[in-house]
Amino acid sequence: MRQLDHFIVGGASAPAARTHKIWNPSTGEVQAEVPLGDAALLDRAVAAAKKVQPEWAATNPQRRARVMFEFKRLVEANKQELAELLASEHGKVVDDAHGDVQRGLEVIEYACGIPQALKGEYSQGAGPGIDVYSMRQPLGIGAGITPFNFPAMIPMWMFGMAIAVGNAFILKPSEQSPSAANKMAHLLHEAGLPAGLFSVVHGDREAVEALIAAPEVKAMSFVGSTPVARSLYEGGTRQGKRIQALGGAKNHAVVLPDADLDNAASTLIGAAFGSAGERCMAISVAVCVGDETADALIERLAPQARAMSIGPGTEPGHDMGALINASQRDKVAGYIEAGASAGAQLIVDGRTHPLVESSPGFFMGATLFDRVTPDMSIYRDEIFGPVLCVVRVASFEDAIALINDHQYGNGTCLFTRDGEAGRRFADQIEVGMVGINVPIPVPVPMFSFTGSRASKLGDLGPYGKQVVQFYTQTKTITERWFDENEVGGPVNTTINLK
Ligand code: NAD
Repeated sequence: MRQLDHFIVGGASAPAARTHKIWNPSTGEVQAEVPLGDAALLDRAVAAAKKVQPEWAATNPQRRARVMFEFKRLVEANKQELAELLASEHGKVVDDAHGDVQRGLEVIEYACGIPQALKGEYSQGAGPGIDVYSMRQPLGIGAGITPFNFPAMIPMWMFGMAIAVGNAFILKPSEQSPSAANKMAHLLHEAGLPAGLFSVVHGDREAVEALIAAPEVKAMSFVGSTPVARSLYEGGTRQGKRIQALGGAKNHAVVLPDADLDNAASTLIGAAFGSAGERCMAISVAVCVGDETADALIERLAPQARAMSIGPGTEPGHDMGALINASQRDKVAGYIEAGASAGAQLIVDGRTHPLVESSPGFFMGATLFDRVTPDMSIYRDEIFGPVLCVVRVASFEDAIALINDHQYGNGTCLFTRDGEAGRRFADQIEVGMVGINVPIPVPVPMFSFTGSRASKLGDLGPYGKQVVQFYTQTKTITERWFDENEVGGPVNTTINLK
């Protein structure tokens, strides 16, 4: 069986006391094992980072950008291998896995422009003979803790910018889909990164707690479920660290009566069931304004949900692969049962898909509920599976109020032909990322990923301009120089100019 190692200078010095099984979700078999790191291992990664980070910080940003350009080229050259690797551990189809790599690469492209993004500010003559300027300096060592569902994109969101601004970085990827992190670490070093500047420490809660406790780690980026985001945010800020912690989601799409329903239905199918719904930006609730809109939308959604081609992610031609593990599949099945028992109308039941019974893989069919109400657990909770709930409301105002009342505020979208409704939605909705006729509005890298309420703790987002601020210390210098011939008097005073 394949055994993974940490990516750390010198490798793991001793066999791991604890390991974690990596499943192949399409076959239900264990395909590899990953070691779970501890505080002693983390100390080694920190020591290696401390050794090389000052020199990396002193390297001019153009040179650091060159490493990012080369890394981008190497990832592109290895894209197919990377996509297949992560599809085999996550279960998503290879096309989706390519998207996972590509969206991460776009952040690396932004990091290639770091000389520009890192420029400070300057004010000449802010006082008599006084000039003021600011600079952004790296913090030292940053760390990233990532979820299982985007094994390439989310690490690239984090380490690309953190390294480009001059930090060392320690990545603790999900133990469920860890191999892409090792592959990217090799490529980063092939691209010219000094050994020790980037380490991958595999692990679970123990490794994360060691990262929180390490005083040398100045800033941490986390993406995962809300309970872990909260505990990391609280633990990390208590230690005086900078923390950005992105959590779970329940994303609503509002469908107004004037929307192009054919387009809304076909894009909702992709947004709800792509990657088997294991996306933090997946749409899991369609809020239909008026019964006629709901009936017409369901008429279009149901046949498409039934027709989804489901199969092993590494096999070409499928729309949807397996879920990450058996307990996630069982959890989704439990929610379907709970929704039906609570009185929601089960239009398409994913549990009846033939693969659910016949395959040892962790498959679940696309599921569609109608007449879901806000008190039901299928509405309140993040299911993180291929389940789309239709909620019927009487007015646009009710739809906005419903969404603003939900515990999560990650993404949302509106389907309409009415520009005024679009403006009102953008203005009044209290959700981080908003799409107008765009179901998955993940911001491009020159903006920043965001979120509100239980979906995001900490104020700065993980990429774009905000992350430059997050991973650097702003220093502001106020300076005044004196004319040697005029001891005690400033150069260029108004007296000198007379
Ligand atoms: P998770 O919270 O279980 O794990 C995330 C990371 O935290 C992993 O690296 C894991 O090893 C670590 N971890 C788990 N339990 C821990 C604990 N008790 N203490 C310390 N560390 C711990 O999340 P997941 O199941 O890997 O990913 C799915 C979740 O991530 C969903 O809730 C999804 O919405 C969320 N997510 C959010 C975004 C976003 O941008 N908001 C993006 C992707 C995924």
